[in-house]
Amino acid sequence: MPVKCRFCERPAFIKLHYPKMYLCPEHFMEYFERKVKRTIERYKLLRPDERVLVVVSGGKDSAVTAHVLKKLGYSIECLHINLGIGEYSKKSEEYAKRQCRGLAPLHIVRVKELLGKGIGEVRTRRPTCSYCGLTKRYIFNKFAYDNGFDAIATGHNLDDEASFILANLMNWNTQYLAKQGPLLPGEGRFVKKIKPLYELTEREVVAYALASGIEYHMEECPHAAGATTLEYKSILNDMEEKRPGTKINFVKGYLRKKKLFEAELEEYELGKCSVCGMPAQGERCSFCRFWGRSEELKL
Ligand code: SF4
Ligand code: ZN
Ligand code: ZN
Repeated sequence: MPVKCRFCERPAFIKLHYPKMYLCPEHFMEYFERKVKRTIERYKLLRPDERVLVVVSGGKDSAVTAHVLKKLGYSIECLHINLGIGEYSKKSEEYAKRQCRGLAPLHIVRVKELLGKGIGEVRTRRPTCSYCGLTKRYIFNKFAYDNGFDAIATGHNLDDEASFILANLMNWNTQYLAKQGPLLPGEGRFVKKIKPLYELTEREVVAYALASGIEYHMEECPHAAGATTLEYKSILNDMEEKRPGTKINFVKGYLRKKKLFEAELEEYELGKCSVCGMPAQGERCSFCRFWGRSEELKL
């Protein structure tokens, strides 16, 4: 006899471990959307009238973020950054296009066309993921700022956040630990950044994509192999299995204690990049310095 949904007669589609319950697809989707709404309200992520730019990678998390924000009535547009990583990026762009069709306007920025080289093609000592992150963050912020968006939404889920906090604790990166959370407020040319899936696990995001028929790119980026965050995710998954609620309690505990790290935050004066006008620690911002820009990037 199949197990029934807690709220109706239909067979269960998922067993949630925390809180423990069985749900059918419809009631699971309702539960998921309610949880996103509560996250937005609890952390004051968005006002109803704000214009949101959702950064869609072609993967599940950002696609689900766009889908749910739209369903909750927010005014969204999407941005896909094609990183120029061969076949992987080609497929990611195809998925992003498919995900946004009929949902929201999609803007596409291609790193290789814009900067001459794709991610992974630059000769540098800097790790690929490090300059990839720098490039993505700069592009989506610049795009949002130049086009008057009030917020940038990314698809980070509870597993991403918990593993990021754990990794930074293991290395005592207090500067990073002082600045994480579901909301990074906007300031000057930095547009507000929000994470609506902050309290939802990766497993729940996969289940939501499945229940709502969202197709997504399942391949990992070739540069992700061996990333330590994957190890931390696996440790946290083992702990969650033994003690359901480990991840959410860890992340909520961190948010309560974040002030301890804020006290260690090094204050430094930010100037203005002489090339693009974005905030910079030196004469040029890290993006213009890394890519050797002498002209402002036009998006
Ligand atoms: Fe960029 Fe790939 Fe590294 Fe992710 S894994 S930061 S997409 S290079
Ligand atoms: Zn049901
Ligand atoms: Zn600059």
